[in-house]
Amino acid sequence: MDESAAISYSPGLMSAPAPVRVRFAPSPTGYLHVGGARTALFNWLYARRTGGTFVLRIEDTDNARNSQAAVDVILSGLRWLGLDWDEGPLTGDADGPVKGAFGPYFQSRRGEIYRRRAEELKAKGMAYEKDGALFFRMTRDPVTIPDQVVGDVVRPLTDREAVDPDWVLIRSDGVPVFHFVNVVDDLEMGITHVIRGEDHLSNTAKHIALFRAFGAEPPKYAHIPLILNLDGSKMSKRDQGASVQSYVDEGYLPEAVINYLSLLGWSSKAATNELFTRDEIAPLFELADINRSNARFDLKKLEHFHFEHARRLSPERFVSIGVEALKKVGIETAGFDPAYVRAALLTAQEKGKLFKELPIWTDFYFVNDDAVVYDAEAKTKALTPASVSALEQLASRFQSLPEYTAAALEAALKGLATELGVKVGVLIAPCRVGCTGRTVGPSLYHLLEVLGRDRVARRLARARTVAAS
Ligand code: GLU
Repeated sequence: MDESAAISYSPGLMSAPAPVRVRFAPSPTGYLHVGGARTALFNWLYARRTGGTFVLRIEDTDNARNSQAAVDVILSGLRWLGLDWDEGPLTGDADGPVKGAFGPYFQSRRGEIYRRRAEELKAKGMAYEKDGALFFRMTRDPVTIPDQVVGDVVRPLTDREAVDPDWVLIRSDGVPVFHFVNVVDDLEMGITHVIRGEDHLSNTAKHIALFRAFGAEPPKYAHIPLILNLDGSKMSKRDQGASVQSYVDEGYLPEAVINYLSLLGWSSKAATNELFTRDEIAPLFELADINRSNARFDLKKLEHFHFEHARRLSPERFVSIGVEALKKVGIETAGFDPAYVRAALLTAQEKGKLFKELPIWTDFYFVNDDAVVYDAEAKTKALTPASVSALEQLASRFQSLPEYTAAALEAALKGLATELGVKVGVLIAPCRVGCTGRTVGPSLYHLLEVLGRDRVARRLARARTVAAS
């Protein structure tokens, strides 16, 4: 037995670290920026890794710009990504329902708290009024910011601050400034770790001084590198991929967006590959593994992640997202046999296309056999008098198959091509265009199997008539 360990063990002196409480504190600007989503994700991951609490707080002190719709955009973006919060508002309404005991979670509803905290600083001699505004008596000494990502940072005073480092807490119009409300809320909400964008690093000296003025220990800070465009420029609202809503609209999988965002500024030494789900990343997520250098946003790489995740998706989830994507463009699948809908959509899964493109790949399954829309170019190329006989013979071979399976259909088509002494393409092109209207789509034999004997027979017959005319 290790005697020294036994002797030094003193449970009374060992206090467990406080449970982790982190927060995502967006200002409602009208959209959820991809950088904000990544900040939310890192906070979420850290909370889940540590068994802590993830708080959502709306920083809407700038009343003129904020609206319920702007908050709803944030909430729905987070929900789409699957980043569930343990505390915070449940709707974009500042007076609406919330969960958690540290509310209100909208700064616009916390005025009383800010006034009380301002009085406290005044009473301590740490704040004073001048010209109708309330100023904070900022420390004259340099403040070291102990940052978990960047390391210790000392922010030198600017020339102006060297003359007078004090700063406004509450403006003369009564509106408290960002630094003040941000710190008061982190304090009141018991936030233990502040994980946020590096653009806030330069504010942190003020924040730390304020915590100290309240006699409180500042939270631990982790400033995460910015997300830049591929060319190194700063990502603005108009840049492609800047808004989370654009991923929803384009039909990316949230799994892919999460996976990609997680790797924008973080990489795990413990991981053997880059493909993760949210729940696979969470146990690996260490603040120490956050990169120091800025990340560059690469839409091509995100597309690749979508492709990989779409192929790995459970059939149930692929089909349910697919049905919604079709509904969005007015294609109703409700009237069809669910087994048919499922089989039809699954023929497109292997392709890993964005869900926005799914209708192009699968719309033909959900039209009447006499209403298949032929792409004009495809029709000119494939449905010509020269293909009439091929369509006729193919239809009769297919019709006589004892089993209507992809393998049997393929054997029949190839067998016929050999007998006729033609390339398979000569048969494939009119068959595909006749059944789907297009030259591209899911694997031909699989889509024929799914359409089934009767649909295929009717479609080939119609194609033959069209080709002959
Ligand atoms: N409302 C601030 C922002 O959106 C949050 C700053 C912070 O996370 O402390 O940038």
